[in-house]
Amino acid sequence: MFRDMDDFKISFERLLKELEFDLSNPFEDVEKVLCIEPHPDDCAIGLGGTIKKLTEGGIEVVYVCMTDGSMGTLDDNLSPHELAMIRRKEEEESASLLGVKKVIWMGYRDTELPYTGEVRRELVKIIRAEKPDAVLAPDPWLPYEGHPDHRVTGFLSIDAVAFSPLPNFASTDGVAGLKPHQVDVFGFYYTARPNYFVDITDLMELKLKAVRAHRSQFTDDVWEKWEPFLRTVALYYGKKAGVKYAEGLRFMPGLFLHITPFAELI
Ligand SMILES: [Zn+2]
Repeated sequence: MFRDMDDFKISFERLLKELEFDLSNPFEDVEKVLCIEPHPDDCAIGLGGTIKKLTEGGIEVVYVCMTDGSMGTLDDNLSPHELAMIRRKEEEESASLLGVKKVIWMGYRDTELPYTGEVRRELVKIIRAEKPDAVLAPDPWLPYEGHPDHRVTGFLSIDAVAFSPLPNFASTDGVAGLKPHQVDVFGFYYTARPNYFVDITDLMELKLKAVRAHRSQFTDDVWEKWEPFLRTVALYYGKKAGVKYAEGLRFMPGLFLHITPFAELI
């Protein structure tokens, strides 16, 4: 029994080495990151501090926003189209606070992001066009995540990263000059199973500012609850990381996102 355990442990360590999976600095050889978000404020909420650290370090970060954010209001005088336009402006302001110059808008209707082959192919096209070294997406297995756009964005991102290197997948992309692309680093944010932490203690106030730039979402009364919520999340990850404020991510080798019974162990 114990002998078996040891065999597994040794074999597991060897496998991680073979996969060149190293959590000491996942961004070491990364020059470009694609950060995929369900709604226009999710990159800032989930990763604002991390994104600022990356861009300050000379790494290019591009957002892909899956939906138009047009449902995020309790104001019945604001049409979906008007709100979508407001949210685009807010996102551009928020992104620029974090050093992000490009936002790609997929434009699906908020609350209705479909989990289909068509959206998957569109996302593959973006990955092939942008050629990121790393992709970050919401963890679709976050326990109790109630928003379908968040779960679907996570699943679509996993699929797109897995399929973008396959030349026979969406092979007509080649006509548009797009070539298969292998993403080297894949990680989740909004995760309950972080295996990597970014110390954002010095960036917490800027992160809050970047979130608050989404003024249509964070009116004064909403912010009264959201500021303590965001600080509590950062303190939660911070406690695990041994710093004040942190953001938690979960990096996974591609192989562990398919038929692996011990994927949770890393
Ligand atoms: Zn969202």
